[in-house]
Amino acid sequence: MFVFVCVRCGAELTAPLSQVALPAHARQKYGNGLQLPVLMASGTFAVEREPWGPPWRRGEAIDPDEAAARGIYAPVRALSEGPADAIVIAPGDTRGTVLIPEEHGGACCGFDGGGGPNMACAACRLLVASRIDDCSLWQAVWLAPNAVRRLPVEGADTGPSSWADLLAAGAGVPPAEPIAAWGEPFRAGDRWHWSPQWVAAAGQALAHLLVASKGLPVTVQDGLTATMF
Ligand SMILES: [Zn+2]
Ligand SMILES: [Zn+2]
Repeated sequence: MFVFVCVRCGAELTAPLSQVALPAHARQKYGNGLQLPVLMASGTFAVEREPWGPPWRRGEAIDPDEAAARGIYAPVRALSEGPADAIVIAPGDTRGTVLIPEEHGGACCGFDGGGGPNMACAACRLLVASRIDDCSLWQAVWLAPNAVRRLPVEGADTGPSSWADLLAAGAGVPPAEPIAAWGEPFRAGDRWHWSPQWVAAAGQALAHLLVASKGLPVTVQDGLTATMF
């Protein structure tokens, strides 16, 4: 386990956290004006190896060869020129930080992080993280990789859960779920949507399937997989 500390003053900025894989839906924008849950499970963090956050470059200003070198083969609206290795955590796992509401970026209903970090170290006021809570975005705090350092926590190495443990716990994700509008309480009449998690995971899996197929036709067995795809 690790805690993240301020690179300038050394103040602790997080609870002790275990590293997990970055969720497939980490960069997802889902629906319009919807209220998405918290991205990361409490007590965990993940690292985004690709550039994350501002500054952005407009898609049409990017040479297709340059985009391909970054693994992007379809038109995109904008490409991040931010630092790689941003760390994403659950908002409730932050410690010793203050929100800077003026740094809301181009937000719609909440903060979208478009203007750069909007959370400061409470001790020395260095900007250390971006709180994201805008509509249709996953609730998260993204730690700026150049503003934090991670320190191991002595004697707290629990390691990740095994697949057998996770399956026994039965914590599955249903394929569809009701999602409330941003800032509204959940109600029985909320519209049902495809699970955003499944939508992202199926999209990622299909891309891998396409590459693995090497251009051959792909068939999927009848059942849930065929329905989902
Ligand atoms: Zn909105
Ligand atoms: Zn500090």
